[in-house]
Amino acid sequence: MPVSSESPARLVFLGGVGEVGRNMACLELDGRILIIDVGLSFPSGDMPGIDLVLPDFDFVRKHADKIQAVVLTHGHEDHIGALPYLLRDIDRRLEVYGTAFTLALLQSKLDEHEVAHLVDLKTVTPGEQATTGPFTMRFLRVTHSIPDGMAVVVDTPFGAIVHTGDFKIDQTPLDGRATDLHGLAEEAGRGKGVHLLLSDSTNAEEPGYSVSERTVGPVLHDIVAGAPGLVIAACFSSHIHRVQQIVNAAHANERVVAFLGRSMHKSVDAARTLGLLQVADQDVVDIEEVDRLDPGRVVVICTGSQGEPYSALSLMAQRQHKFVDIGPGETVVLSSSLIPGNEPAIHRVVDALYRTGADVFHMPSDPVHASGHAAQEELRLMLSLVRPRWFIPVHGERRHLQHHARLAHEVGIPPERTLVCEDGDVVEVGEELRQLDRIQAGMTFVDGLGIGDVGGEVLRDRRKLSADGVVVVVIIVDSQTGELVGGPDVVNRGFVHEETSADILEEARTRVIQSVKESAEAHVTDPSALQQNVRRVLKKYFNEVTQRKPVILPVIMEV
Ligand SMILES: [Zn+2]
Ligand SMILES: [Zn+2]
Repeated sequence: MPVSSESPARLVFLGGVGEVGRNMACLELDGRILIIDVGLSFPSGDMPGIDLVLPDFDFVRKHADKIQAVVLTHGHEDHIGALPYLLRDIDRRLEVYGTAFTLALLQSKLDEHEVAHLVDLKTVTPGEQATTGPFTMRFLRVTHSIPDGMAVVVDTPFGAIVHTGDFKIDQTPLDGRATDLHGLAEEAGRGKGVHLLLSDSTNAEEPGYSVSERTVGPVLHDIVAGAPGLVIAACFSSHIHRVQQIVNAAHANERVVAFLGRSMHKSVDAARTLGLLQVADQDVVDIEEVDRLDPGRVVVICTGSQGEPYSALSLMAQRQHKFVDIGPGETVVLSSSLIPGNEPAIHRVVDALYRTGADVFHMPSDPVHASGHAAQEELRLMLSLVRPRWFIPVHGERRHLQHHARLAHEVGIPPERTLVCEDGDVVEVGEELRQLDRIQAGMTFVDGLGIGDVGGEVLRDRRKLSADGVVVVVIIVDSQTGELVGGPDVVNRGFVHEETSADILEEARTRVIQSVKESAEAHVTDPSALQQNVRRVLKKYFNEVTQRKPVILPVIMEV
């Protein structure tokens, strides 16, 4: 169906601009919505107890009947991870476009969340075109730290919108499937050209070019060749080309490989099925067999390179893993970047690994990783090839976006044609681009079975509890006179040590008794007033003797 209307399109950013993670954008055209990526992010240190962070689905919920389709640029969690939650939320069937590997990774999530019946999966191959409703999309191959990534081009009456997805321009990718520079350049010359480019800003602060994934291969090969005993290599499970290079290094050194971990098995199985990972059956052993084999003949490939506390690698570092015991003579490779925010956890694991006596190879001291995101020269090249009239940097924290905007300026896109947006921003895409009123786009927290029930208030309490602990005071009073007839029992968690600070707790009891007595004398019998008095007295006392501010919970029982 040709584009029929000249009315402006709208872009709504629900995640991934002004932050790294939970990428999600909505393109509205002719009253229909195309959702580009539905990602999640992982909680930062100031979100105690939170499992996952989702985009705010308020906007899509309100316009659920307008959603035409979802298109996924690639299979990373920050691009597909929240889609099962979206489906559960709006509970209607959606068309989902993506490449084979992206949809294979999605499939297992859909099964897990029991929402597979809510999607109509449309497998596409880069180079193809697809039309759904008012959206004509073209898909262009890009290289990234996962196979089968793509940029998405959508036609509008004003020219094309190009969304790069996550990309780097690797001229020598492992699978020979390079970023489709020709296709990108063609977009500039087609019809009205490219009206708007949305481009990955993750590494906009990195000068030069990213190094090719291929450079990691020889480094891994040499490490494996020089290793006297077992080699354990950790990387992201979806980084199939990295897994391939570890497999190749093992094979070249006459070692078998053992895959370890649920997500590693899932990714590897999907990639082998699709022919994206080449490993012979006889080169693979089960992890249970490893301790019966000559350690010098095995490479274990696992996840946990980000210091995840319950990952196999963390357990190995603590020498608590069921099948793999690390010690002197063993070699561990953390073949991944240090994702900002994860450094303390990674360093903890690396330190623990060194303590076992093992040889450890990790970034940045060893070149065992190549980034999957374009550095400055590649970003400039993308801008120059696509020649957009307008530019919006996406996928990055504010400073990344700002640096990317500067790069755009350097290659000739005037600042007034560059919009630096944040989550919640709405942009009208007509002949001119114009920022409209912002919409609600906060964070939705997943905690256990709850989605969105834990908000800022609960988190504030958790932070307070985790910082200073809690003191519970139970007293029983006569409902008529307000006199103390039982207690007070003072119980604390995380405030002071019960035994060594017994005197503090004893004095607290004395002060509560005094406070209740004074209240009774003043004829205060209202439980909430009693609570307030007790809280005030204890707050003052605890501050005097400890300078700490525990959460004080008086429980008043009336008889
Ligand atoms: Zn991403
Ligand atoms: Zn990615």
